[in-house]
Amino acid sequence: MLPDDSPTENKGQPGLVPAALSGLCPCCRGKTLFAAPAALANECVACGLDIRSLERGGRFVGVVTMLLALALIIAALGVDEWLRPPLWLSFAFWAPVTVVGVIFALRFYKTMWVYHQYEESQP
Ligand SMILES: [Zn+2]
Repeated sequence: MLPDDSPTENKGQPGLVPAALSGLCPCCRGKTLFAAPAALANECVACGLDIRSLERGGRFVGVVTMLLALALIIAALGVDEWLRPPLWLSFAFWAPVTVVGVIFALRFYKTMWVYHQYEESQP
């Protein structure tokens, strides 16, 4: 009979998706990575990790956003051709989808980048 497995033994990286969704700090796992829905904090308020300096070089963010917006616009035009929904319906559907899609893509991208940089900076 084994004693209970200690869940605190789990030292692996959290999955990127939960990390991006809740904005987990790569260092202390606190939910401190984002100051706004799609903006990184300057530093972790819990452990003082310099997030700003890890973000350096992540300037493809604009390109990612534009590509995603472009993909969504093309998708929107495709649906328009196909279903010919009334304009208000297109707008009611695509406005939130675009906002949520862009925010999520940015969070995911930035989290991925910060985690990558954090690992690089470890000895
Ligand atoms: Zn931290």
